[in-house]
Amino acid sequence: MSFRTLHDRGVIARYREYLPVTDATPVISLNEGSTPLIHAPKLSAKIGRDCEVFIKYEGLNPTGSFKDRGMTLALSKAVEDGAHAVICASTGNTSAAAAAYAARASISCIVLLPAGKISFGKLAQAFAYGAKVVAIEGNFDDALRLVREIGETEPIAVVNSINPHRLQGQKTASFEIIETLGDAPDVHILPVGNAGNISAYWMGYEEFFSLGKASRTPVMLGFQAAGSAPIYHKRIIEKPETIATAIRIGNPASWDKANNALEKSGGAIDAVTDEEILAAQFWLSSNEGIFVEPASAASIAGLFKSLDPTSNRAYDAARFPEGARIVCTVTGHGLKDPEVIKEQCGSVISAKADRSEILRLIS
Ligand SMILES: *Cc1c(COP(=O)(O)O)cnc(C)c1O
Repeated sequence: MSFRTLHDRGVIARYREYLPVTDATPVISLNEGSTPLIHAPKLSAKIGRDCEVFIKYEGLNPTGSFKDRGMTLALSKAVEDGAHAVICASTGNTSAAAAAYAARASISCIVLLPAGKISFGKLAQAFAYGAKVVAIEGNFDDALRLVREIGETEPIAVVNSINPHRLQGQKTASFEIIETLGDAPDVHILPVGNAGNISAYWMGYEEFFSLGKASRTPVMLGFQAAGSAPIYHKRIIEKPETIATAIRIGNPASWDKANNALEKSGGAIDAVTDEEILAAQFWLSSNEGIFVEPASAASIAGLFKSLDPTSNRAYDAARFPEGARIVCTVTGHGLKDPEVIKEQCGSVISAKADRSEILRLIS
């Protein structure tokens, strides 16, 4: 269709030559990707030394998280392979994306989620897109185990990040950053749950570096929530806990790939507390105007921790080169989890419908 431009047709159209698709692959897309890379002047000033921080705002994808980048590919390949249904275990955003792209592809979507641990915004998305939602007594890791087992015996495609197409789609975020900045950044910071995204970004950076489209690869810094930090602690966490439900993962599916990215990039994994995550979330929305869900704020909390000499930080931000360009991925939109903000900072001022009273209250 001639009225479309390449960039608003989604990541498969934009990066087809780098993705495992052929002319026989039906493209299931919602025009995901091409998200803004927003300069963050106040964050940059906190680092100083002419460093510049950019926020990759993945909450502006069609279902409000980066999961759409992988899901366009996972669903396109599932349909190509003849699947009539997809299944996923989810902390919320994977199910929202799977359900939307399944609706688009006219196939059914089954979501297995840990009972009571999903924000209502994300659950509402799965319902709205017509998915069949099953809440199990267990945590995310139990749900993922069941999904793997069902995928082995039933004609249902698993679209969790153990599906290799997901990471292929997600690596396109690195391509976009390189194209926007003209090169790879010096440092890339992101939240880590199942560790698929940090692995995908690294894959994208390495790929464009090896093709000569970037002169370097960035130092990768990953941040887990303190109560769900298996990679940081180097052991499975049986009962992961954190308010950042999207990274409430005790046994990451892409653990080895993430370790490879951290090691090869000269990066580090660290953990941030729920208090630090919530403070960073509110700081980002009230100072830079970017509202993200708690898990996403782990990258900002992580940057703050790296700047704090009194913390037990795993990486000292003083190691950033002068004039460094630092990209923080914020993975999902704040509106997905409004309860958190209501509990943290929501207080309405009551007033009569009276001009002078209002002027007094707001002064
Ligand atoms: C899925 C998700 C993450 C974690 O990404 P992984 O690939 O599992 O490490 C972080 N934030 C949000 C909002 C997510 O949806």
